Amino acid sequence: MNAIWPLLILITAVFSLLYLWYSLFPGRIQPEVFRYFSAEQVAAGREYNLTQRLLFITGFMVQILFLLWLVFSGRGMAFARWAQQLAGGSYWGGILVFFVSLWLMLSLVKLPFTLYSSYFLQKSWGFSTQTLGSWWLDYFKYAGLDLILSALGVLLLFWILGRWPGIWWLLGAGFVSLWLVLQSYLWPVLVSPLFNQFVPAKDPAIISMVQELSQKAGVPVDEVLVMDASQRTTKANAYFTGLGATKRIVLYDTLLKDYPADQIKAVVAHEMAHWRQGHIVKGLTLGILGNFLVWGLLFLVLRGTFPPTPLRYPPQAWAVILLFFVLISFISSPLQNYISRDMEKEADRVSVWLTGDAPAAVRLQINLASKNLSDLSPPAFIQWFSYSHPPALTRIRILQEGAQ
Ligand SMILES: [Zn+2]
Repeated sequence: MNAIWPLLILITAVFSLLYLWYSLFPGRIQPEVFRYFSAEQVAAGREYNLTQRLLFITGFMVQILFLLWLVFSGRGMAFARWAQQLAGGSYWGGILVFFVSLWLMLSLVKLPFTLYSSYFLQKSWGFSTQTLGSWWLDYFKYAGLDLILSALGVLLLFWILGRWPGIWWLLGAGFVSLWLVLQSYLWPVLVSPLFNQFVPAKDPAIISMVQELSQKAGVPVDEVLVMDASQRTTKANAYFTGLGATKRIVLYDTLLKDYPADQIKAVVAHEMAHWRQGHIVKGLTLGILGNFLVWGLLFLVLRGTFPPTPLRYPPQAWAVILLFFVLISFISSPLQNYISRDMEKEADRVSVWLTGDAPAAVRLQINLASKNLSDLSPPAFIQWFSYSHPPALTRIRILQEGAQ
């Protein structure tokens, strides 16, 4: 059973090294790119993404090496004994101390990478409109939320581990699935407002444009919200989120400010197409299926790592479980992104049908890719591994084909 560990580690190592290699040597630019973009735009996109990719993959590797060392060197066991002593011998106290200390250590390991990529890099390319103080405020808000929710999750997990030794993985998967659904309802109304302000779109031109599209798509839209993204960035974007009564389209204020009306319409049509094709529900359903598979695998891994199945797993089991989830989510990202790109392609095709204006959608792609400094000719491996959206050139082709 423990053959799973070497396999997971081997695949992770191969993917990481390939990612590193193709970040450093992205290869030639497809000549077709120059039909839409200037040489300067292409070069800037390459340079910006080189740094982002290096930060991502080195940050990931450092985190994985730290966890591997902790789990396989025996240090995890000593660390767990220390946690239990600190908690005065209490089992639950020991779990909590172990979880919080590991959380703090990992946060510290990841901090330089996060700080550089989401603040200093953004500043140096002129994207960030934040002060360092407000960046730290965001960071601590996210961290606090993450710490509290994860601590509750970990305590719950250890409780079901001890209480239902044979079927805990089914309960765990069931609980996380429930959480995924609940979160889709609650995140847009409870968490997003902690970071941004959302106001209903007021411009009558936008409102009538949205109504026209919503009628054609057969999708009732309750709310089009404008988010004050300009507080943090100059980048433009839009997304759709929520379920049932919390369903909404969110437009960045930077989009409304910097893009012409026909391109904003193309964005809204794309978001509405996601909605019309049921992508939120489809994504959730696949997420839930994957979840049961992953928890089933975790059951086998844990049984192999702590034989014979103890009724009470020691605190260091948390490091093992965390390592497992980090490896699995890295390894499965090509699959997740493949599914996502497929939905994006479908949304692009449907959006052209909705607006009947492929040229505006193409101009939007050109505009977004050059202003947001996309890599205009990303290496095939990096696309396959980490692109949730197809690159600009592919999207332009899809939009033009959709128009014919
Ligand atoms: Zn999309």
